[in-house]
Amino acid sequence: DSESLPSMPWFGMDIGGTLTKLVYFEPMDVEGEGNEEKETLRIIRKYLTGNVAYGKTGIRDVHLEMPDQVIGGRQGALHFIRFPTHEMQAFIDLAKVKNFSSLASAICATGGGAFKFEKDFQEQVNLQLHKYDELDCLIRGIHFIDRHNHSCECYYWARAGTTDSHLQNGHSASAQPSATHSDLNSPNHSRAVNGEATSQSGSSGATSSQSESNGPQHSQDKNAGSDTFGDGDWYKVPFDFRDPYPYLVVNIGSGVSILAVHSPTNYKRVSGTSLGGGTFLGLCCLLTGCQTFEEAVELASTGDNHKVDRLVQDIYGGDYGRFNLKGDLVASSFGHMMSQQRREEATREDLAKATLVTITNNIGSIARMCAATEKIERVVFVGNFLRVNTISMKLLAYAMDYWSQGVLKALFLEHEGYFGAMGCLIEYLK
Ligand code: ADP
Repeated sequence: DSESLPSMPWFGMDIGGTLTKLVYFEPMDVEGEGNEEKETLRIIRKYLTGNVAYGKTGIRDVHLEMPDQVIGGRQGALHFIRFPTHEMQAFIDLAKVKNFSSLASAICATGGGAFKFEKDFQEQVNLQLHKYDELDCLIRGIHFIDRHNHSCECYYWARAGTTDSHLQNGHSASAQPSATHSDLNSPNHSRAVNGEATSQSGSSGATSSQSESNGPQHSQDKNAGSDTFGDGDWYKVPFDFRDPYPYLVVNIGSGVSILAVHSPTNYKRVSGTSLGGGTFLGLCCLLTGCQTFEEAVELASTGDNHKVDRLVQDIYGGDYGRFNLKGDLVASSFGHMMSQQRREEATREDLAKATLVTITNNIGSIARMCAATEKIERVVFVGNFLRVNTISMKLLAYAMDYWSQGVLKALFLEHEGYFGAMGCLIEYLK
């Protein structure tokens, strides 16, 4: 009951290796509050919901806002905010300036940073961190947001020239190795096929131009690789996630965790890999001199990994027919880079694309093995690596379908990297 709930403001914080994610519940029914409390609440609220950017690096993902929510008996809206974890000191300073600790004596937190920064919060702003396990929070957050998002949270990627039913019933004839470039370059008519998909496809808000630029424009590139399938005419289709069990969660953050989920409370961590989003960004910065994730993805969107990777046809002169390996599959990631001439020919864009494809396919491949071992068919990909990164989503969608002969289904969630923070807040208010 609301009597025993912690006092407002209500934040859920997920302090990750790269990004800190904040979920803020903005109450719309503020009658009960005392005056002083009300005033501080108002200041915090005005600051958070009156802005979309905080300092140089904090950002509110306005397109993910969830209005009309009831949490802990209170009615309000959920806001989603992120900033780089290396800016934590600036955040703590802000909490000081905004007089946060006069209002709250505790805040709930998850992720490794909840441990790493616990002392700083305690000593500098007199805030106690209530710590929760990040994987518990992740599962709880997925469950909560899927149930409470009034528009559709879960979706998959379908490609023009294939029918939804192929993908939906799990026996796809869609992704045959014979898919040609003309399939990829077909006119962009499919967006009209599904009205909901159209309305959702711009969901990346301020950065939605990113996903657009990965579309038709890139498919005109004659070198657009059919093995990557990050190119061409794909569209989003809502997926009914009400009875999802069992499913695999592949959380692609700085590193990767893979969980097998059998019920809202029964899950286990089955695998992981250190080759994750941090690896992509780190390698991309090294190889191209880029500075940000957005820049890295932008570079990749116009690059050609075939200039960097060795393909089956580079080795066989064509397909490796006996085992049904098409000539344009990557045989050796970065395999061309042993040649000085190839190194000189490869552009920053090509290197960025090759890095993205390498990391993404490796994760897809580990996910497939986990799915096979766990005998699970639905694979949900989350984490901020997928932010403004339609190339990787389509690549994962293609790879899961193709290599499993249509048995596995790659699913995606709109709130990508925010489930830990959301789950943390829910745990706190329980
Ligand atoms: P973590 O909890 O480990 O910080 P996230 O789920 O937040 O994990 O994902 C972090 C990854 O997301 C980064 O390694 C990078 O690949 C990607 N990413 C997306 N947007 C950004 C951004 N604005 N800044 C840095 N990394 C980003």
